[in-house]
Amino acid sequence: MTGIITDKTGWNLDNSYTRLPEIFWVNHNPSPVKSPELIKLNTELARSLGLDAGLLSAGVLSGNRLPDSSRPMAQAYAGHQFGYFTMLGDGRAILIGEQLTPGGERFDIQLKGSGRTPFSRGGDGRAALGPMLREYIISEAMHGLGIATTRSLAVVTTGEPVYRDTVLPGAILTRVASSHIRVGTFEYAARYGESGDLRALADYTLDRHFDGYLNAENPYVFLLEEVVRRQARLIAGWQLVGFIHGVMNTDNMALCGETIDYGPCAFMDTYDPQTVFSSIDRYGRYAYGNQPNIGAWNLTRFAETLIPLLNRDSGRAEALARTKVSEFHTLYQKYWHAGMKAKLGLTNDEPGDAELIRELLLLMYNNKADYTNTFLALTFDSLEGAELYTKPEFLVWHKKWSARDRSFPTMKNANPALIPRNHRVEKALDTAVNNADYSVTDRLLAALVSPFAHTREQTAYAQPDPSSCGYKTFCGT
Ligand code: AMP
Ligand code: MG
Repeated sequence: MTGIITDKTGWNLDNSYTRLPEIFWVNHNPSPVKSPELIKLNTELARSLGLDAGLLSAGVLSGNRLPDSSRPMAQAYAGHQFGYFTMLGDGRAILIGEQLTPGGERFDIQLKGSGRTPFSRGGDGRAALGPMLREYIISEAMHGLGIATTRSLAVVTTGEPVYRDTVLPGAILTRVASSHIRVGTFEYAARYGESGDLRALADYTLDRHFDGYLNAENPYVFLLEEVVRRQARLIAGWQLVGFIHGVMNTDNMALCGETIDYGPCAFMDTYDPQTVFSSIDRYGRYAYGNQPNIGAWNLTRFAETLIPLLNRDSGRAEALARTKVSEFHTLYQKYWHAGMKAKLGLTNDEPGDAELIRELLLLMYNNKADYTNTFLALTFDSLEGAELYTKPEFLVWHKKWSARDRSFPTMKNANPALIPRNHRVEKALDTAVNNADYSVTDRLLAALVSPFAHTREQTAYAQPDPSSCGYKTFCGT
């Protein structure tokens, strides 16, 4: 039986999602686990949520006990996975509520790996320690990089095994998100709901995330515009730091504009737009260079769901949807170009800017240069240790770039000292899973908190794995 605790911890949970029509959710308790142990707690995040970190216990963070105000439930959604439509839903996650923070914000608190739900299909509803710690590390790294993301409050081990290819220690991650409304939630409403359901979801989403819709001529057009804009900004942010999501299915695209679902994601070392790490992405659908196109593809699926709301005339609605989605590429380009200019410290606009950027990327590609470290070397004018810097074409480029007005502080704030390198992440997970030793993870996380600080400690984490070619990531289901 799931028990109840008092709220001296600071829990102040609302359940606005359950005021949506019943097709969107199902009341469901987490399944208790044998012996939960809190192995990772994000005290800074806890504080910002109004929670007393000292009182946050493994009991609550495993779902064995629930805060008073919790009305646990699983959300229904659908999605296009690798291009194909499927019915999904929270198969191994329970939303325990929406925390109302002292700052007046609202965040979903979700336990991932908390047992089976009516949406679990054949799955066991559980998660393994490695993938949950991986989500913790990478999502917190993304936050440090200034990219909108869901966050990780805690990881608890369950004391129970999970059975995958091998037997692994089980764990539960507490995920914090502005919301879990996905493109797939709208696809679900459009496919399985009545017209009132879709409208209720759209109104709820506007209310929750898109201030200003009240002044819009058509709030649903405004919704589409804003979702397109946030995704353009988000994906530009990914490209600028070399982040590869790995599984950009429409159920993994959040309308609030946060990066969500850290499965087979990883950061690119050597610059190559074809880079794919995920073992299940055999055709490179979600390759680094393809992420903006997939963003637009997913937004097209979103726009399709909104057709009944965009205009009474379906022909006009379709034209409107098409126009709004087509703005994605322009917006994406705008965000990406501005970000690249910052990475190069360029303070004014010149007609050759786009070419200057393109030339550098081509040089990096041709010379198999490390993406992050090339920008770092340019920032600190430490052009040594890579073949690229000795190439005559590079010297020509460098001269052209040096002739421009450049700002060192801008470059420092745009080029991280480190990213979560694949071999560093693997080492941290390996030590945690095999030795129950979390010190490597802790040190890595400490280095990743402020990637633009450029401290001496961070330099130790900057090097790519010399043997990293062929790195593979797995979904972690
Ligand atoms: P993901 O690939 O993490 O986006 O997951 C796709 C869908 O599969 C989601 O609806 C998950 O909730 C569900 N799922 C993943 N792993 C499990 C599991 N072990 N048990 C039940 N459902 C799962
Ligand atoms: Mg998912």
